[in-house]
Amino acid sequence: MSEFKSNSIEEVDDAYKTLHATFRAGITRPFSWRKHQLNQVILMLRENIDIIVQALATDLRKPSQETIVGEIGTIVRRATQSAAQLDEWASDEIVTVPDWQQGWSPTVLKRPKGVVLVISPWNYPIALSLQPVVGAIAAGCPALLKPSEISPATSSVLADLYPKYLDQSAYRVINGGVPEVTYLLKLKWDHIMYTGNAVIARIVAKAAAEHLTPVTLELGGKSPVVIDPKTTNLKIAAKRVLWGKTVNAGQICVAPDYVLIPRSAQDDFVEAIKEAAVELHIDSTLTSDSYSSIVSEGHFKRLQNMMTKSSGKLVVGGNTDEQNRRITPTVYRDVEKDDSLLEGEIFGPVLPIVPVDDIRQAIEYINAHPHPLTLYAFTEDPEVKQTLRDETRSGSLNFNDVIQPLAVDQLPFSGVGESGYGHQTLKYSYDEYTYLRSSVDIPLALEPHFSARYPPYTQATTEA
Ligand code: NAD
Repeated sequence: MSEFKSNSIEEVDDAYKTLHATFRAGITRPFSWRKHQLNQVILMLRENIDIIVQALATDLRKPSQETIVGEIGTIVRRATQSAAQLDEWASDEIVTVPDWQQGWSPTVLKRPKGVVLVISPWNYPIALSLQPVVGAIAAGCPALLKPSEISPATSSVLADLYPKYLDQSAYRVINGGVPEVTYLLKLKWDHIMYTGNAVIARIVAKAAAEHLTPVTLELGGKSPVVIDPKTTNLKIAAKRVLWGKTVNAGQICVAPDYVLIPRSAQDDFVEAIKEAAVELHIDSTLTSDSYSSIVSEGHFKRLQNMMTKSSGKLVVGGNTDEQNRRITPTVYRDVEKDDSLLEGEIFGPVLPIVPVDDIRQAIEYINAHPHPLTLYAFTEDPEVKQTLRDETRSGSLNFNDVIQPLAVDQLPFSGVGESGYGHQTLKYSYDEYTYLRSSVDIPLALEPHFSARYPPYTQATTEA
């Protein structure tokens, strides 16, 4: 595995020019070529499982099972499906028109937008880098990938593997940090796909606006969990929610961020959380291979600081290992609404429980904050479900489990408001990098039908 190395400006310029020339030459257009590149992505992942697992273990101590299932498996599945459905997605659409427009061949053409810039984050550095690339390939677009400098081992592996598998005239990796990405954002792209936090997203969107470049923003935020104790099984709910905080040590955009539960049920839920903590062996977190580390010292300190400042009562966890950047899944109860844990996205294995009067107050709390990426609710009550559908906004709304909804590739993945815009996965990704080109072909033989449109206008032609 090579050391992480930032690319030079000359290398960026070369990649930029090459990708644009490739697009203009039409190399990425044939479906057979796109399918071959998609298969090469699959091959790249399948033939390098050990290297990728090792890189993620270096960056995040990510357990191999989470890397194989959550990173490699996800992309292999989506690339396979994209190759299988590409012809169907890309086929022209003939639209239905009024009788007088028959014979005009009104068609919607699906055409690649052009060269895509993908800027990806560290938390799922394979899946979140390659997911947009798979979409770009399917759509017939070249793509330049800028992975995160915060997961340097994985970013280096991507740079090493790309030339061995993918057509270098169309798919390149540029590594680097803020200077490199700032330079990339000055260039004109045909689409920019950014996954990361909402502060940097504003920089990306402003830079894109200079060139009127369309942007997809996949962001995060605080995803709430509403517990309706009247109709849910608290034991299963507690186990599922706590599990959601263990996956990648809570460093996942759709991690449950905090729990809203009617005050009267808090004691029972806390008991259920304690039992779940035993079942999930969270006391072994600091040493176990089944748990990830916090990605960097900065993020470790940020979480430690949030925990120290919280006025909530500790329920489980609370242990940390600074040297290995490990934090036990930690739950606080009776967290007040002005608590440090409720300020920004936690993005770590810490769960505040916020007692509310009732479900109505939970909805008001959610609506008083930015629209989350995901809203979770544990309830079997159809009325509560419908109220949540009707009265809240979020990228997705999922009942009775956390994180697992991500496995449904066919659903659009996206945020709303502060959690981002644009969509992805399978056809939604294809659509994101495709533009719809309207086309009609009006035969010259229809000329007699148009006599009324030519001046001079007369009463007779207007009535006709
Ligand atoms: P990060 O720090 O790795 O940054 C993401 C990318 O932004 C990197 O490639 C980085 O180089 C680039 N970047 C850094 N500074 C920049 C600048 N000044 N201008 C342009 N680009 C710059 O990742 P992060 O932001 O810490 O990621 C975590 C956030 O991402 C969380 O908020 C999480 O919820 C969100 N997220 C969202 C999704 C999703 O699909 N919606 C997925 C994963 C993470």
